[in-house]
Amino acid sequence: MIKFLDIQKITAKYHDEIHQAVDEVVDSGWYLQGEANARFEKDFAEYIGTDCCVGCANGLDALIWIFRAYIEAGIMSPGDEVIVPANTYIASILAISENGLKPVLVEPDIRTCQIDDRLIEAAVTERTKAILIVHLYGQCAYTEKIGEICRKYGLKLVEDNAQAHGCLFNGKRTGSLGDAAGHSFYPGKNLGAFGDAGAVTTDDKEIAGIIRAVANYGSTKKYIFKYKGRNSRLDETNAAVLDVKLRHLDEDNARRKAVARRYIDGITNPLVSVPHVKDFDSNVFHIFPVMCPRRNELQEYLADNGVQTIIHYPVPPHKQECYREWNSLSFPVTEKIHNEELSLPISPVITDEEVREVIRLVNSFK
Ligand SMILES: *Cc1c(COP(=O)(O)O)cnc(C)c1O
Repeated sequence: MIKFLDIQKITAKYHDEIHQAVDEVVDSGWYLQGEANARFEKDFAEYIGTDCCVGCANGLDALIWIFRAYIEAGIMSPGDEVIVPANTYIASILAISENGLKPVLVEPDIRTCQIDDRLIEAAVTERTKAILIVHLYGQCAYTEKIGEICRKYGLKLVEDNAQAHGCLFNGKRTGSLGDAAGHSFYPGKNLGAFGDAGAVTTDDKEIAGIIRAVANYGSTKKYIFKYKGRNSRLDETNAAVLDVKLRHLDEDNARRKAVARRYIDGITNPLVSVPHVKDFDSNVFHIFPVMCPRRNELQEYLADNGVQTIIHYPVPPHKQECYREWNSLSFPVTEKIHNEELSLPISPVITDEEVREVIRLVNSFK
């Protein structure tokens, strides 16, 4: 079977380095908020190109903490609005509503699947405080126009960089383009940990300081609590593993790009469209999404022939039970994407032979 993502094989690739890093933490007897965290935060901030990085428990928390910090800093208050793409993973939207802020959904551009910057300005109201862009599928969502809208209305620009570690915009990394960014190191992400892990990157020292506190019980000093925080820390073993994998991220992303290039050049079936890629070199292809009006049949056909695929995502956020207040709203572009999207296997460890086989099968689908 051709797996959608063979994480065991990715880990095996860096076996010795990873085991050495984990062993060092195990032997040190220090498992939280120690040297491995400090080192990874420094290295990741440097990689992304920001002054600060704060590790935390997962990607959802990273996004939650960013908005929480803006609230604690008096920059936002509950009831304020945050513009967010309608076709994102639920976490982006949960991070807003969790803080008592109001997500305002905006349709994506059908070609790129990224938030449609032509529709954003019409969604801005008196209460809008931020735009949360999501670099979905590993492609940059930022545009000059989004930057201009943020400046014009005094909005914070927050990035959900869960799917785009290593992605670039004009030579700058996503995660450094706005005011703050949330990263997920869920095992399947381009930079994946052994379990849950996340981080925030920002140049804003005040916000970074608040996040460091709220993610650690709200504590600014041991046993002194300034905020009603939670326990959302990144553990030392994962920080050490991430630091090893960060050194190989660009090389892993280069392999993803090579696979994407083969798919784009090789898939010629008129029933299947390959993604419209704005800037091929900057894209890190966390996911390789194809669109097919008979998506479910295509998925079944591939499965019957030994190829595992995943749908990102089968049900859009506004149709989920948790947001039942939006269930009657209509977002046709988002719905079309959710009805037609299928993610083909892509990873740093997929072989040329496997890619050839996927292409052959996709092209033979009738
Ligand atoms: C994975 C993901 C998250 C959440 O990350 P977790 O670490 O799983 O909490 C947030 N946003 C997007 C777009 C994601 O893909």
